[in-house]
Amino acid sequence: SVVVVGSINMDLVATAPRLPSPGETILGTSFTTTPGGKGANQAIAAAKAGADVVFVGAVGEDTFALELRQALVDAEVDSEHLREVDGPSGIATITVNGDGQNSIVAVSGANSRVTELTDDDLEALAGADVLLCQLEIPLDTVTTAARYAARSETAVMLNPSPVQTLPPALLELVDVLIVNETEERQLSEDALAAVPHVVTTLGAAGARYRGPDGERLRIDSPIVGPVDTTGAGDAFAGALASMWNRGPREALTFACAAGALATTRPGASCASPTRPEIEALLAK
Ligand code: ADP
Repeated sequence: SVVVVGSINMDLVATAPRLPSPGETILGTSFTTTPGGKGANQAIAAAKAGADVVFVGAVGEDTFALELRQALVDAEVDSEHLREVDGPSGIATITVNGDGQNSIVAVSGANSRVTELTDDDLEALAGADVLLCQLEIPLDTVTTAARYAARSETAVMLNPSPVQTLPPALLELVDVLIVNETEERQLSEDALAAVPHVVTTLGAAGARYRGPDGERLRIDSPIVGPVDTTGAGDAFAGALASMWNRGPREALTFACAAGALATTRPGASCASPTRPEIEALLAK
């Protein structure tokens, strides 16, 4: 199984002919709300890719909370470890213009209050194959989760996004880093070298891997017709976690196909493909 300790947000997406200037009000053309947050997106992606997934995180006490929980349930992610805390759920208000450029305000809300792990959370971690984390919840919580996972046979996978300097106390617990090229450039060489497995996503070019003995792999992404690359990285990470126990070559190949399929559909968590869809693309 895969345990994700991470963020869950409601994305409030408005489209408008252009992005408003300070003090300006403009008329938009459409509005949607979609569940997001890297933690939830990757948990949903892993579940759709076929893994048993537990999500550990928090929503607030607002009307988004129910919808966010339902998004996990709909994807068959175990939401028993999702708590409700005082204050608002995490949100992102996103304005998209006619060219597809956006401006975003993200408020972490309940995500910033994921500070304690319960005995039930720790038990789930101890029994899991993979812990998958990102950096949209407090760093100390990620480190605590990683510490418990590392005590068991649970592989610690980290997608360090939004990218920031990783404290040595966390780095030494990480088995697998999943980074895109921008994140890879922003991490120090020492940080990258400290981790046994580094997976770098390369957009349409696929992904590369560097293993503990210096083993290197390059995996191509299937050629698809992308319409919206949002969520490709999250689909990749979730799929990779779901297949990690099969070894890097098989896991990266599977994850590249998942990432590619995610670009053929709009949105983030709703764009991640199911296992049969991924297998069908790979069988082509
Ligand atoms: P991020 O969205 O985090 O920047 P990438 O852009 O590297 O991540 O995409 C993640 C994965 O999604 C890639 O490794 C690749 O497998 C797949 N992918 C992304 N863009 C495309 C594309 N245009 N065509 C095919 N696959 C893609």
